[in-house]
Amino acid sequence: MIKEIICTVCPTGCNITVEGEGKNITKIDGFTCNRGKTYAENEFVSPVRILTSTAKIIGTKSPLIAVRSKTPLPKDKLFDCMEEIRKLTVKAPVHRGDVLIQNICSTGVDIVSSGDAE
Ligand code: SF4
Repeated sequence: MIKEIICTVCPTGCNITVEGEGKNITKIDGFTCNRGKTYAENEFVSPVRILTSTAKIIGTKSPLIAVRSKTPLPKDKLFDCMEEIRKLTVKAPVHRGDVLIQNICSTGVDIVSSGDAE
């Protein structure tokens, strides 16, 4: 398998090509620095993303509050995590950084509030 990856570590945005199967990388080209090489290797083997979304909230003016994953989540779990967040209703007050869902979808990652609601 060949995967084309745009490095997002810095604004240069190098195009990196990674070849391999599963977790075995056989060739990697296009990186300009080792940070980019590491990024591309991780993207090939187990891509992750910070998840940002909104959750329902009661007891305050707005019906929604911004939420995010505290750390990046496996890309293949994002849809399941979105479903869990969709089922969530939190009660004000909520403060930035409050954990709203612990260990979402058994990923070891918490979903936290990224806003305040009194
Ligand atoms: S490979 Fe290095 S120089 Fe290129 S975008 Fe990534 S971090 Fe920036």
